[in-house]
Amino acid sequence: MDQVNFRGVKVAKIKSVKFQKKEYSYWKPFHITGSVSSTSTNIEISVDTEEGLVGLAEASPSFRVSGEKVDALLAMESFVDEMIGGMDTNKYRLIFDVTDKLLASPSIKCGVQFAVLSIFCEEHGMKVNEFFGGARDFIETDKTVGIDSIQNRVMEAENIFRSGFKQIKIKVGENLFDDINAVMKIAERTKGASYIVDANMGYTPKMALEFVNQLYRAGIDVAIFEQPVFSQDFEGLKFVRFHSPFPVAADESARTKYDVYRLIKNEAVDYINIKLMKSGISDALAIIEMARSSGVKLMIGCMGESSLGISQSILFALGVGCFDYHDLDSHLIIREDSFRGKFTQDGPIIRAI
Ligand code: MN
Repeated sequence: MDQVNFRGVKVAKIKSVKFQKKEYSYWKPFHITGSVSSTSTNIEISVDTEEGLVGLAEASPSFRVSGEKVDALLAMESFVDEMIGGMDTNKYRLIFDVTDKLLASPSIKCGVQFAVLSIFCEEHGMKVNEFFGGARDFIETDKTVGIDSIQNRVMEAENIFRSGFKQIKIKVGENLFDDINAVMKIAERTKGASYIVDANMGYTPKMALEFVNQLYRAGIDVAIFEQPVFSQDFEGLKFVRFHSPFPVAADESARTKYDVYRLIKNEAVDYINIKLMKSGISDALAIIEMARSSGVKLMIGCMGESSLGISQSILFALGVGCFDYHDLDSHLIIREDSFRGKFTQDGPIIRAI
């Protein structure tokens, strides 16, 4: 049982993997292109080792982006348990390679990989952000304005700006005319803020250009124009990229390292929005290196993570330190009984504990 390696580090052999369903409600319904949600259903994953170490993580699945359904994922508990049972968390790369096969359940892959790394870090006496490289002492997040009446969108953006956030994410994509008006009015009332505008695949390439050109002519600067067109329309994405005055990002188009490889090869985007729930830790690390070697820029986003799950992306982002923008605000719209993040937050500024 007490096997040790040459440095006296104990073998941390995985004993069991357990899933638990958790349902959270939002403070108010969150509306983006094609979807309104008022709850977030996540899966807590705990990995135990024979030696008594426990890694706790959260999967926040998205049917819209990755085709994941919570009940189908819950049914995978014993399969995942068999998949990595008996493996040594000190050889986490081997666990990454095995879990990379969970292509249809990337949020589970993410949770399992993170739980394993938490055990690794505990065993080696380091924080997870230190494991990832310890590059930053703090990150700054944006906060998101969902789709609503123009008046409510402006009000919400003003509230966000007044509460100290300098980066505002604006959801668009359902009504081109309203979207242009909403962004123009928001820009008028939040001078000095920077804007990430996310269409969540809602526009055609022509609509996307109409949108950016009108904003550009009005003198509004958009930091990132996220996922203007359908996820599989790489040519449309490239068309928008080369005709837009603002940088274009792939989110729904960029789930795995294979997607990102094709996006880069096609010169389709300026930015990749990495989300751990789409890629897991292993592909997120691979995407970072591909982006660095091709000059593509990076931002990091989230799904419906609670404080427990968003902590994973925060520690990752603090560690690797390569993101121009951090869109890590899901925990701010979720009701929770207790805060479980390994970070402190002062307005938009987030630090590891
Ligand atoms: Mn997005």
